[in-house]
Amino acid sequence: MHHVYLHIPFCRRRCSYCDFSIAVRKRIPARDYVAAVLREVNLVLGGQRGVVPSCDGLDTLYLGGGTPSLLPPPAIAQLLDGIREKLRIPHSAFRTAEVTLEANPEDVTRENAEQWRHAGVNRVSLGAQSFDARVLEWMHRSHDAARIAAAVRALREAGIDNISLDLIFALPVELRRDWSRDLDLALSLLPSHLSLYGLTVEERTPLARWISRGAATAPDDERYADEYLLAHARLAACGYRFYEVSNAARDGRRSRHNSAYWSGRAYLGLGPAAHSFDGRARRWNTPAWDAYCRALAAGRSPVDSEEVLSDEQRELERLYLTLRTAEGLALSDLPRPSPSFPVWVEQGWATIARGHVRLTPEGWLRLDSLVRDLTGAPATG
Ligand code: SF4
Repeated sequence: MHHVYLHIPFCRRRCSYCDFSIAVRKRIPARDYVAAVLREVNLVLGGQRGVVPSCDGLDTLYLGGGTPSLLPPPAIAQLLDGIREKLRIPHSAFRTAEVTLEANPEDVTRENAEQWRHAGVNRVSLGAQSFDARVLEWMHRSHDAARIAAAVRALREAGIDNISLDLIFALPVELRRDWSRDLDLALSLLPSHLSLYGLTVEERTPLARWISRGAATAPDDERYADEYLLAHARLAACGYRFYEVSNAARDGRRSRHNSAYWSGRAYLGLGPAAHSFDGRARRWNTPAWDAYCRALAAGRSPVDSEEVLSDEQRELERLYLTLRTAEGLALSDLPRPSPSFPVWVEQGWATIARGHVRLTPEGWLRLDSLVRDLTGAPATG
């Protein structure tokens, strides 16, 4: 198993649009969390989780959340050391692995960043989202715009220069968010990577309630398309390449971890709500922090459920994942000749070259419907 994901569920408060599995806590139960995850690793090694790591190396380790940067740096070090020792990952493999920590800007100080780096973290994904104070407040984010630049500076001073920024676009019109300005400010920080996500309205979030009582408008498709295409043009002009529908990087700075997901590789997920995949079956842990912690304290597996993918599901997923990427889909891998491609190319949704069909930004805006068009089956998530 060369790819490990660790879900750290704690947040200070819930952002207005977020439906992730999180635990809002003022005090972070760091000791309990580390103990629970290391118990889970023991169960994995004992074969009680279905996924047994091969222990021969590690290519990527991703600490996602939640807000992993809320875990005190010594707990992060203990966690990474514990995982490395238990999975018997050689130090040499750990040194060359991509180890990413998701961080909120307000948690990034030079001191924290230095401790993260000493623990093995060499890539940080910063939840910037916007540089507009009003927008950040509307999102219920805890940082202000100035903190983002300060965080980037602190990371570089601490020796972490592989920095990704997350931004959200297609916000409700009444916010009058200046997307162009936000892109300029993000690019002025020279990040190595950018992840851009369109706002979606999830049930049972503050945003969904605001919309249902008329206090906010739902994001609209036209705005989504305009802002998405503007980001493509602006980032391309600054030397970034979209290597996946939502992710752009400078040369050599693609996320190795996410690339592993998109190429269908196996991964081990640890922590509440974490998913694992062994190439055939997907398993996911119980999402609630308290239930996860209780199960492990009692020596029980935290796995909530599993799904064994049929050949048909795997094929659909493969088509969907490859079309998300800039490499695109090899024509020789198509289940059947598709009569749709000439239309896709004519409409400017795809190009065909060197035996591959690759979606253009306009095509990525229609990804779901193009996959349906190709297979005649419903598209997956
Ligand atoms: S910090 Fe991230 S995980 Fe936590 S509530 Fe906000 S969006 Fe959700």
